[in-house]
Amino acid sequence: MIDYKALQSEYEFDVYPKRDIVLTKGKNARVWDSQGNEYVDCVAGHGVANIGHCNEAVIQAIEKQSRKLITCSGTFYNDTKAELLQKLISIGPKSLKKAFLCNSGTEAIEAAIKFARFSTGKTDFICAMRGFHGRTIGALSATFQPAYKKSFEPLVCGFNFVSFNKFEKLVKAVTDKTAAIILEIVQGEGGVHIGTQEYFLQVQQLCQEKGLLLIIDEVQTGFCRTGKMFACQHFDLQPDILCLAKGIAGGLPMGAVLCSDKLNAPIDQHGSTFGGNPLVCAASLAVIDFMVENRLDEAAKKKGEFLVQKLMEAELSKVREIRHLGLMIGIELKEKVKPYIIKLIESRVLTLPAGATVLRLLPPLTICYDELEIVADKIIAVLQT
Ligand SMILES: *Cc1c(COP(=O)(O)O)cnc(C)c1O
Repeated sequence: MIDYKALQSEYEFDVYPKRDIVLTKGKNARVWDSQGNEYVDCVAGHGVANIGHCNEAVIQAIEKQSRKLITCSGTFYNDTKAELLQKLISIGPKSLKKAFLCNSGTEAIEAAIKFARFSTGKTDFICAMRGFHGRTIGALSATFQPAYKKSFEPLVCGFNFVSFNKFEKLVKAVTDKTAAIILEIVQGEGGVHIGTQEYFLQVQQLCQEKGLLLIIDEVQTGFCRTGKMFACQHFDLQPDILCLAKGIAGGLPMGAVLCSDKLNAPIDQHGSTFGGNPLVCAASLAVIDFMVENRLDEAAKKKGEFLVQKLMEAELSKVREIRHLGLMIGIELKEKVKPYIIKLIESRVLTLPAGATVLRLLPPLTICYDELEIVADKIIAVLQT
């Protein structure tokens, strides 16, 4: 048998801290490694497989579309893309009227930065401490974590950081150069910190009063993850730009930027070769239909509560706090989380960190209750050792 770990290690220019298993197969909330071991997957491709791995609806959609048309330049119209654009706008906040399609979360943020500068003629952005927006230079400039940034400076100028959920700090950061405020509703990579309704409604009002654009990054919180199609819908927020990716196309690479009519499109000054190609559009249409038909928003809410309830009941002494919105769950420990992630792999449950001390769970929203019981039992067991 081929040693795929050795093979990949030899040839991969690796940027990831690796876990010691080779995943070869997935179905719904389960994945299998090359030894045939089965895991309950609360990583889900880093919060991507919201409708489960290898969902039949996505398989059928891409199989059908792959026989019709896979690639199509953005300079031509396309039937599947037209349908997806309409669908995205129909499920988003009412303020959003048009969408630009790209290939990833970071690209959605890059586009948002460009669109905001183009539309306002202003240069600066206010971002949140602990915020994460991606790895390319523009999105990285909007990201807080110094460890992700310092080796790659100089970054883009004009990004200012204020404490999350502290409106007074944000007000003070506004200048006459401010184009927009960029925030996540729940800070995912930053440790699963949930923004309050009061904060977001105040920020929205400030934006209206000062003529600033409100950019909401829902790359991780979008597509039913938090118990609503989009997390900003918990507060009926009406942003000017909504950035989407991760769960949008059932595991295929795609990003989207939804824009209000305060935004002008820079014709011939932005683009993406692969962005919104018919294949991913077909997948995304299938994903959204599946989510709506199966009420995955409600499922995420109920399942999140179920799992968190189980964990709370155990009264684990190593746990400082459990934070969650739907099936976006952060278990903050009083110590480093990595050893527990490794132990959980041995217990056949895959989880991920969010910073040094937070155990994060982003399972498929289609995970069943038996699997949630397994996840709770295994987490409780490793945290009691
Ligand atoms: C993952 C993530 C990104 C970056 O998305 P990529 O597809 O990895 O580029 C941006 N913002 C948030 C909130 C994310 O969670």
